[in-house]
Amino acid sequence: MSKKVPTAVRSQYDLWIGGDKWSAGSDDRLAVVNPATEEPLADVAMGTTDDVDAAVENARDAFESWQRRPPKERTRILTDIAAAIREETDRLAQIETLENGKPLAEAREQVERCARHFEYYAGIADKIQGESIPLSEEYVDYTVREPLGVTAHIVPWNVPIYLFARSVAPALAAGNAAVVKPAEETPLGALELARLASEAGLPDGLLNVVPGYGTEAGAAITGHPDVNGITFTGSGPTGTAVAKSAIENVTETHLELGGKSPNVVFSDADWEAALDGTMTGIFSNAGQVCSAGSRLLVHEDIHEAFVDDLVERAESLEVGSGIEGADMGPLVSEAHFEKVLSYVEIGCEEVGEPVAGGSALDRDGYFVEPTIFDDVPIDTRIAQEEIFGPVLTVTPFADEDEAIELANATDYGLVAGVYTENVGRAHRFAREVDAGQIYINEYFAGGNETPFGGFKDSGIGRENGVQAIDNYTQVKNVCANIDRR
Ligand code: NAD
Repeated sequence: MSKKVPTAVRSQYDLWIGGDKWSAGSDDRLAVVNPATEEPLADVAMGTTDDVDAAVENARDAFESWQRRPPKERTRILTDIAAAIREETDRLAQIETLENGKPLAEAREQVERCARHFEYYAGIADKIQGESIPLSEEYVDYTVREPLGVTAHIVPWNVPIYLFARSVAPALAAGNAAVVKPAEETPLGALELARLASEAGLPDGLLNVVPGYGTEAGAAITGHPDVNGITFTGSGPTGTAVAKSAIENVTETHLELGGKSPNVVFSDADWEAALDGTMTGIFSNAGQVCSAGSRLLVHEDIHEAFVDDLVERAESLEVGSGIEGADMGPLVSEAHFEKVLSYVEIGCEEVGEPVAGGSALDRDGYFVEPTIFDDVPIDTRIAQEEIFGPVLTVTPFADEDEAIELANATDYGLVAGVYTENVGRAHRFAREVDAGQIYINEYFAGGNETPFGGFKDSGIGRENGVQAIDNYTQVKNVCANIDRR
């Protein structure tokens, strides 16, 4: 590789299977590209179906003893992994920024969320309890929560380090072994995390990472007959394909899919909080967030003034290299950059020129300006389809009923934000809007502890919080007749 390789990143990566580097079964390697410069960062081995078989076999062997270890040992090991991640925050954050593009400050937050996730589920590992069920005097009945076995984790590129932890940490805490397939664009963080977990004392084979193409390694993992549970995070069409192949093996599947989330500002809202929330909601990670607040619904009385302030803020964002501390980084890849720009063109045809942005930056890297389309009818493509970029649509509304109707006018149902000082209205909104998470007066409120997942086409199941343990355990009921002598 001729170009300079930044120090946080190694130049070559293999797979990670059985607690060590693993040479792939083919010579096929993929260059991971820095989206801020378009230069190659590292090249990574691409796993084959044979490699997937090896990963699942290693996971199965490791699972047999892991499930029998006292839960308090799982607590200790996951706590040590969290500490190891925190110790390497700088390096991991640099890797996240270099392969994904997001500003370093956002990457550091994601590494902290990743460490916190291992810490949180370390605290739960020794509290996964069953119930005793009263029947009649002759019986003793109780339930046990058992791990599933080998769990598969398909991870997208937008928040690779945190989303790795989001499903892997509860799976390990509940006594499972894991096989992870990171996205083609961003496999480096996952490989570094697996190495760190081994160094922190995780037994070999419990956490395997097989980078590769979705249609090859990904499909081989999710269609594998010896995989007992799948957590898929990504787009709707791929999630549906994964679920169809999983059902052939009757494998439990959780889907964390896309969104087109409304962010609703009433005329009595705290102005600064609503502006901050709107900006964070759509321009964090250059809009490449499943729960992005990509549809702003704003009361007609404040519509014009609010959009004026928003445009001023959007135009003041510094767009540039995340590693150099810009406010907003590039899109992850050339293909995604082209897709987002094609939506900007669609928007121009549907509603006319945007009131902010609308262009790519004239430099290397996949940079698109923060873009705002105003007065967007709710049935347009830009108000209905997930653009997954820094593109906001604004639609005014007249009253609460219309706000709720517009908020629900989507096939998605991941999250929704509302800004109002009226407590009753905020909770009526929470009651009426079909979404898995409602943010009141702060966008992205909540955290590792709060359940997250979609209504409607945004998914099946919940990650985060205590609920996530349900994804990685199965209930066994034991019923004994104690009166037979
Ligand atoms: P994608 O569906 O293209 O890919 C996701 C992952 O699936 C990648 O690792 C890919 O290699 C793999 N994959 C592709 N084909 C596969 C197959 N046939 N079998 C198994 N795996 C396969 O999605 P993407 O473009 O990487 O991610 C963006 C999407 O993810 C957006 O829709 C976004 O909203 C969604 N997302 C959802 C959440 C959530 O928590 N709900 C979080 C982040 C991203």
